[in-house]
Amino acid sequence: MKEPKANFFSPFKGIKYMVKKPVTIRVPKETREAAGRYRGFHTNDWEDCIGCGTCADICPTDAINMEKVPEYDSPEGEKDERPVIDYGRCCFCGFCIDICTTGSLKMSKDYIYINENPDTFLYIPEEQGINKNFPEEGYQRNEITDLLDLERISMRHVKSSKRKDSFLEYVKGFSKEEAKREASRCVECGICTDRCPAHMDIPEYINSIWDDDLKEGTKWLYETNPLPNVCGRVCTHKCEEVCAISHRGEPIAIRWLKRYIVDNTPEKDYEEVVLSNVSKKSKGSIGIVGAGPSGLTAAYYLRTLGYNVDIYEEKEYAGGVMRYGIPKYRLPDKALDKDIKFIKKIGVNIITNTRVGKDIEFSDLENKYDAVYISTGFMEPRYLKIEGSDHKDVIAAMDFLPKVRDFARNEGKIPDVYKKIVVIGGGDVAYDVGRSAARIQMIKYGKIDVTLTALENYEDLPASEDEIIEGREEGLEMYPSSGPVKILIEKNKIKGLKTAECISLFDDNGNFKPELNHDNTTFHKGTQVYISIGQAPNYDYLPENLKEKLNFVGPKIETDENGQTNIDWLFAGGDIVNGPDIINGVADGHNSAKGIDKLLNNNQ
Ligand SMILES: Cc1cc2nc3c(=O)[nH]c(=O)nc-3n(C[C@H](O)[C@H](O)[C@H](O)COP(=O)(O)OP(=O)(O)OC[C@H]3O[C@@H](n4cnc5c(N)ncnc54)[C@H](O)[C@@H]3O)c2cc1C
Ligand code: SF4
Ligand code: SF4
Ligand code: SF4
Repeated sequence: MKEPKANFFSPFKGIKYMVKKPVTIRVPKETREAAGRYRGFHTNDWEDCIGCGTCADICPTDAINMEKVPEYDSPEGEKDERPVIDYGRCCFCGFCIDICTTGSLKMSKDYIYINENPDTFLYIPEEQGINKNFPEEGYQRNEITDLLDLERISMRHVKSSKRKDSFLEYVKGFSKEEAKREASRCVECGICTDRCPAHMDIPEYINSIWDDDLKEGTKWLYETNPLPNVCGRVCTHKCEEVCAISHRGEPIAIRWLKRYIVDNTPEKDYEEVVLSNVSKKSKGSIGIVGAGPSGLTAAYYLRTLGYNVDIYEEKEYAGGVMRYGIPKYRLPDKALDKDIKFIKKIGVNIITNTRVGKDIEFSDLENKYDAVYISTGFMEPRYLKIEGSDHKDVIAAMDFLPKVRDFARNEGKIPDVYKKIVVIGGGDVAYDVGRSAARIQMIKYGKIDVTLTALENYEDLPASEDEIIEGREEGLEMYPSSGPVKILIEKNKIKGLKTAECISLFDDNGNFKPELNHDNTTFHKGTQVYISIGQAPNYDYLPENLKEKLNFVGPKIETDENGQTNIDWLFAGGDIVNGPDIINGVADGHNSAKGIDKLLNNNQ
């Protein structure tokens, strides 16, 4: 189109507006309906949003800030923050929608908002939208625009046909490429750190993999956990349950990434990291009872803080359940040895084959040390009292598993597992028993015949999903909702276990009180019965006068938030205080080390 010709009077045309009444159109007379994928104002469903802040991190115009919502009582796995959008900055690019980890943040078709107060253009999106009118959905993420990688890099395992007769570790670990790809899925939100009992710096160490700086990764690991080789293999990885990515996809394989770092950091770098933090010995002496995860961790951090530390351990080797309970195919000795090697290298003294209360009195420790940390665990087997359970071929988990470990490290004879066995229990330890017994059956007889019976129904089995799947692959048969009734014995030989259908586990007050339906029973043939119904502590090393002063809650000792008992110089942790796993023991050990330092040197 041609430009209209310029006129001599054109510049003066505007003068007429100087006398006209000004008009401000406040609201368009006719609003037009927005197109289907219109990028209007945001909405956010607070029930789904977890406050991860990923939307804020990606925003190219810095239009999103995360703000604490004090009145919001955020459940575990969420932060009490929600995104605030500055509409003076937002360019409606939609990246925040494309990356939102939960899908809670959306764009609406609402595009008109009028308010004289400029502060309202800083808006915390809620479900009802900026105009409080529950607007229609506008632009949404689709498969192409989705910025998250939802699929986990799968871990390679030794096939079940090849691992059934072997105690060799069957999880192979990530290659460099696999680890980097898995690390690249992390959005560095830190939700996992809050959940980890030891508050490990997870995003930081995952980032070190992406940066190819494993020495830095090792440094982050040792900030909070001196057992990374163990935890990189058998940690209960509760952090993964809350991983931001798990809301729409598969959680980041945090545990395997930890393992990748420690398996691949060059020895020289590794040593440099561990040795670099240790202060000179000058602050005092601490005695520790029990060289399980909690005692070892307390010792490591006390030593780095400058204390002389002696650990007393009744067994031949340090490690506690990690050495004498967890089967070698899940946790090889070499991984545990590596963690312990570095704890010793910084100067921790581990005195093995020494039971406190027998080889040395507890009162000697009281006299010798400035403070004492007890972490003696739940190492004692628990037995079941049903008809026939006192037979010699009824074996408790923690009587059996230490023998399996001795055999697997070529230091004991092959345990006497029979051809057809029944295991009572549906937790991880029952699977450890069943899978270990199956391997021994395979070695001895070339055939597996292991039946597991559990009180819980299949969906509620306490064992982890991995154990259930891998146990099934190895040939274990699980009978859920089955309560043990009696062990049938004929001519002094076990014939099998009779179970009855378990119809409920708890009474009306929530107490554990399984109810069995004796009209629906099953007989499980077997000539040996293994019992895996939990472990118990043994406090016989504590003098009576001291036991009287301590507060016990059930079988556990009560401590304050610093791990201190109600006896000044006595700290406690691990299974005897919290449990139920290694990482909680690590957290207690670290916490008590800080607590002891606070007591003795007034360090906050
Ligand atoms: C079979 C089995 C498998 C498990 N698998 C896992 C798993 O895969 N992942 C996980 O996170 N957790 C697992 N757990 C739980 C975990 O092992 C425990 O929570 C953890 O070991 C507790 O650590 P702790 O330091 O309190 O004590 P423990 O590991 O029990 O160690 C206590 C130590 O104290 C020593 N001791 C006791 N009394 C004395 C004394 N008087 N004098 C000297 N020494 C003494 C013991 O010999 C032992 O070495 C498993 C437990 C069992 C039983
Ligand atoms: S639409 Fe784009 S500019 Fe606006 S808040 Fe989201 S990411 Fe930031
Ligand atoms: S990315 Fe989604 S879940 Fe995370 S804070 Fe933003 S809106 Fe909430
Ligand atoms: S591992 Fe998951 S929860 Fe942890 S920082 Fe990465 S994305 Fe967030």
